[in-house]
Amino acid sequence: MNERFIESLSSLGITLTPEISQAFEKYRNYLIQESQVLNLTTILDPEAIYSKHFLDSLTLSKVYPFSNQQVLDVGSGAGFPAIPLKIVFPELKLTLIDATMKKIEFLKRLSERLELSGLTFVHGRIEEMKTKASYDLVVSRAVAKLNLLSELCLPYVKIGGYFIAMKSAHYEAELTTAISAIEKLGGNVKQVQLVTIEPELTRALIVIHKTKQTPLEYPRAFGKIKKHPL
Ligand code: SAH
Repeated sequence: MNERFIESLSSLGITLTPEISQAFEKYRNYLIQESQVLNLTTILDPEAIYSKHFLDSLTLSKVYPFSNQQVLDVGSGAGFPAIPLKIVFPELKLTLIDATMKKIEFLKRLSERLELSGLTFVHGRIEEMKTKASYDLVVSRAVAKLNLLSELCLPYVKIGGYFIAMKSAHYEAELTTAISAIEKLGGNVKQVQLVTIEPELTRALIVIHKTKQTPLEYPRAFGKIKKHPL
């Protein structure tokens, strides 16, 4: 466990208990171990896993008051940002969806190892999921450009809830292109929060409030979303 991780967490208002540190250590070790056989992450340096995956996932707590909400992570991959959030906020009711079966299988094995409960795993494409307007919060990192991602995520947010997209510091052009899509889908950009994780790594959290119902035709099939983005 490195000192910088502990300090950065405390700047997010998170106190590391021995249980939490142990869970992150197990997560890191299992991620490294499984990455020998599965293509889970290109970041394999133990310290970099703490900053670029764990801490990065937890930056969301700067803009959202996590407690026991229903949260959906779209395209969770090896568990980011969902699993670090669950480790720190165990009351969350989390759903993780990914289109790749081996990633969902990894996530199930991981959650057993970490003895996490209250998680739902879905193997499939988000745009085919039926539970629309059911989540307090939908989050997503590194899945698609914001105009496409908004159509994939906003339909699943309850009215009054939030969609938070994790983007790079160079988010402006992407956000400008996505504004009309966001509005059509019933969303409203509330805030963009920049968080510096380490000197060369700044995260932009695009916080979108869902204020109106999403028209029922969304999300469309992915081919259409891609070919004719909103
Ligand atoms: N969020 C993780 C993984 C990013 S890689 C991280 O930041 O590390 C993108 C992941 O999204 C892949 O695992 C891919 O299978 C998944 N994905 C892409 N499009 C998807 C869709 N339409 N529905 C569900 N999962 C999707």
